[in-house]
Amino acid sequence: MGILGHLDAYGTDDPDFNEGHPEDRCPVCGAPVAGHVGGELPDSRIKWQHRRHAVLAIPLDNL
Ligand SMILES: [Zn+2]
Repeated sequence: MGILGHLDAYGTDDPDFNEGHPEDRCPVCGAPVAGHVGGELPDSRIKWQHRRHAVLAIPLDNL
């Protein structure tokens, strides 16, 4: 998996991400889950919003 794949996957194993409701919001970036990579309504703006949040959050996880 490349770096962008890692960013796309970050947070998607959080139970809040996988509740399966169309109105679910991502715990990482706050955008609708359906708009994420692999979601029902992929949206490139949401994809990049998630990547920006993930790239900032990942180093904090490792403090
Ligand atoms: Zn997100």
